[in-house]
Amino acid sequence: MTNFGEQNLVDGNKDYAAAFTQGDLALPPSQKYAILTCMDARIDPAAAFGIPLGAAHVIRNAGASTRDAFRSLIISQQLLGTTEVLVVKHTGCGMLTFDDETAKSLVAKTRGKEAAAEVEHIDFLTFPDLEKAVLEDVEWLKEKAVEKDVLVSGWIYEVETGKARKIVG
Ligand SMILES: [Zn+2]
Repeated sequence: MTNFGEQNLVDGNKDYAAAFTQGDLALPPSQKYAILTCMDARIDPAAAFGIPLGAAHVIRNAGASTRDAFRSLIISQQLLGTTEVLVVKHTGCGMLTFDDETAKSLVAKTRGKEAAAEVEHIDFLTFPDLEKAVLEDVEWLKEKAVEKDVLVSGWIYEVETGKARKIVG
């Protein structure tokens, strides 16, 4: 079996590093914003959302969950000066397809009791309705005192067309 991950990194990085010229960028994002999106393999944030290197934080997790990303967002804002968050969920998201019980029983079945105990208290933050989930996640974030004066908007990216549309904000 081929370990594509390691092979791609080694081969791809050789070419990337050979042509690399942007080693003098500053640590804080130059355009002071963060994009939170899903880890879905079909999303290429830099290309699809027009993000220049060094301009923005890109935070990714399963489902583009604001709760899951809260720690990173606070670091982004308080330590690195970002003032805007774009929450981008997407069509065909895996998080629409299961619930906590399914995930936990799957772990128990494939990994056993000890593993089941490890995930017992995890909220997998799945959602049955995409647009509603965008609204709720944006609302959840905006209600936090630590997010005061941060501009938050919610979006849906279509993996079928490559188009992003604004839902709220
Ligand atoms: Zn997803």
